Amino acid sequence: MNSTHSIWHNGELIPWEKSQVHVLAHGLHYGSGIFEGIRYYKTERGPAIFRLPEHVDRFINSANAIKMSLPYTKLEIITAVKQVVHANQIEAGYIRPIAFYNSGDMGLNPVKNTIEFFIACWPWNKVFTNDSIDVKVCDYIRITPTATNINAKLCGNYVNGTLASLSLIDTHYHAVLLKDINGYLAEGAGENFFIVKDKTLYTPKRDYIFAGITRDTVIQIAGGLNYPVVETDILPKQAEDADEAFFSGTAVEIMPIRSINDRILGNAGINSIVETIKKSYSNITTGRDINYLKYLTYLFV
Ligand code: PMP
Repeated sequence: MNSTHSIWHNGELIPWEKSQVHVLAHGLHYGSGIFEGIRYYKTERGPAIFRLPEHVDRFINSANAIKMSLPYTKLEIITAVKQVVHANQIEAGYIRPIAFYNSGDMGLNPVKNTIEFFIACWPWNKVFTNDSIDVKVCDYIRITPTATNINAKLCGNYVNGTLASLSLIDTHYHAVLLKDINGYLAEGAGENFFIVKDKTLYTPKRDYIFAGITRDTVIQIAGGLNYPVVETDILPKQAEDADEAFFSGTAVEIMPIRSINDRILGNAGINSIVETIKKSYSNITTGRDINYLKYLTYLFV
């Protein structure tokens, strides 16, 4: 990871190397923290943060899910994010707000413990270096709504995707797909999943997934291009027989999938719908599509 100068901590900017955590932090032991992943892009008008208010809303929802009283309003968090991006003087990058219960009571209920809130940013160009990736449906199932709050970005939720990703060590696959408890495809370790078949997009329903902001953007892009989007159950076999497939997520953006369970996907060629969506997404995030300027928070107005 490329470090930057400053990290925002409980209201002030501190040097990167001073942003430390106590070893008895509750969040470290039990995952009782919440976080966000946000990207900002280089545009003609300087850096712009993509869908910042929606990310902050989600962050606040995640806090509520774990009964964490954040001592900052939505507007104050937005201002803090802009402040840390500005301080680090990088044209484009990734922003990571994280708040967690600190040390104090080591029982599982953390509500009496203090809260630490950091916002970091750093340059993060590509998650996958390939143009398209090979994906494996793994044996771990996705966390379920009856076991945890799957709509909150809780730190502890992410051990599921971490274990799933670790299952690929020493294989040729780049990424995992997890099924839901009913055997339908849910999502990647940290990405939503789409297939394309006969010029229609299919994506898992919201019931067992973390329905991301990029997924929502993709659905809007597809609508604008007159490609129908169907939110439905998708079996692994249906995905293997798709014309195209891709992951969507803030970090990976639009990531084309080359193969699923070693089945090379069929019919993309030069008329790839995934490539069209990827290009539209890039035009939107970099301010070149005026219809979506509402989604950009410019650093310098
Ligand atoms: N699913 C999971 C499990 C994730 O962690 C993420 C990343 N936040 C996503 C999907 C994609 O969400 P978004 O498009 O909002 O980044």
